[in-house]
Amino acid sequence: MHTGRLVLTPEDAFYVPADIAALLARLRDIDFIGAHILPENEADYLLGERFMQLVTFMGCSPYIQLKPTEDNQPFCHLKIDGPYTDPVFLAGKNSNAPNCKACRKRIPQWEALIRAWSKQPKRYRATCPHCGNLQNPATYNWRQAAGTGRFFLFVENIFPQEAQPSKALLKALQGDDDKAWCYFYIQDD
Ligand SMILES: [Zn+2]
Repeated sequence: MHTGRLVLTPEDAFYVPADIAALLARLRDIDFIGAHILPENEADYLLGERFMQLVTFMGCSPYIQLKPTEDNQPFCHLKIDGPYTDPVFLAGKNSNAPNCKACRKRIPQWEALIRAWSKQPKRYRATCPHCGNLQNPATYNWRQAAGTGRFFLFVENIFPQEAQPSKALLKALQGDDDKAWCYFYIQDD
């Protein structure tokens, strides 16, 4: 059974770190990631020795499978997704209506809005039916149950809210950039 993933991405949905190799080197330095799972696949990494310190698990003594199993069960690892030319929207069965930035009320018919947004993500503005605020849906508050971005790190096989990135991890992701990172959860169908 595959439960879903923790997604790490810059808060600014239009931003991609300039030096992704340097970002991955920082994650190796703090032992958040280890070696590639398979030498021929550059997108997938084993999690490192300090993964369990850099992510805070809710609940007591979780059992986290960090190594591939002989019977090919899903296990916790890091997957790189992107960079994409334009922001993409990620959602799962845990996602629901986002909140307007101005009045904080829920935006109805958000699936149709996102379809329209994805055709011109930079320029598209949606009108809030409650307060008339014009907002790019990339900046909606999805309450960590969906999100947009051009570059993602997936921590695979994490259940929504099961694990939160520590401040130290978010700082390492940001490096010397002025763009902070955020996170959300996607639960597979
Ligand atoms: Zn509003």
